[in-house]
Amino acid sequence: MPEDERTGECVIALDVGGTGMKGALLDRRLRPLTAVRRATPRTVGPDAVVAEISAVVLELAQAATDGGLTVRRAGVVVPGVVDEELARAVYSANLGWRDLPLADLLEDRTALPVVLGHDVRAGGAAEWLLGAARGARDVLFVAIGTGIAAAAVSDGRPLRARGYAGELGHLVVDPAGAPCSCGGRGCLETVASAAAIAAAYTARSGRPVSGAEEVATLLAGGDTDAQAVWDRATDALAAALASATTMLAPELIVLGGGLAEAGELLLGPVRKRLAERLTFQRRPDVVGADLGDEAGCLGAGLYAWRGACDLSARSGGDDPGTWSL
Ligand SMILES: [Zn+2]
Repeated sequence: MPEDERTGECVIALDVGGTGMKGALLDRRLRPLTAVRRATPRTVGPDAVVAEISAVVLELAQAATDGGLTVRRAGVVVPGVVDEELARAVYSANLGWRDLPLADLLEDRTALPVVLGHDVRAGGAAEWLLGAARGARDVLFVAIGTGIAAAAVSDGRPLRARGYAGELGHLVVDPAGAPCSCGGRGCLETVASAAAIAAAYTARSGRPVSGAEEVATLLAGGDTDAQAVWDRATDALAAALASATTMLAPELIVLGGGLAEAGELLLGPVRKRLAERLTFQRRPDVVGADLGDEAGCLGAGLYAWRGACDLSARSGGDDPGTWSL
């Protein structure tokens, strides 16, 4: 009999993004028992976002009850700066909150224990324990979507630094470049995010596109404007990754997020341009993520089962021992 049936337990996992939320009930092997998707009402304001998160958690809790299962905990991961030790959502430009005691608020509203984590570190943890970076000790996971953020594992431990580590998207790659949403100028995000690639293509060619995915399709078809935009983006990514490699010396760089769906169209040039920039440094392999857009939700499930965001081997908690999909 599967363990979840024997113990009758599951966890709630919820990945809150800038536009949508992905939630699931997961068993001990992180298999989804039920899954939900909702829009994030971010234009209505942070209170509405918190209310919607609570509603989704309660809906999943009800589904567990209906299925005869007990919810052990909820793991909720959000973007921005998250202080996992204090369980506070410190800052999110997208969701509009500052220094919000989000785990406490959700526990009050749902009467469930809640572990609060960061979406990209959760995705990185899932890739590290279950996906493309399994078995590696020094890893840089980079999520490239509307924005760019990274999660580093160094000597087998995730780097957190009170939630401020991993802001790769705000490394400056062009000091005279475009203003960034962070208040800086010429950040990697202004050149190489999916949103920046789409905007740069339209600015250059005068042709609107639905997103970076369409630019990738045009690139594959030999479009010279797409090629120029892609060259600039992959060169900027390689420059930022070379800096990160010099500091962190990962053995493996995992590229995830929506832009990584482009596969070798992205990985090939980034690999080549990064190799050209490195001299004495450790040379990381550059690979695509395994878990796609489920990584954040699976990471939230890992946090929920562990009862903490620290998933390094020496941490305690009610670790089910072996995690596999
Ligand atoms: Zn910035």
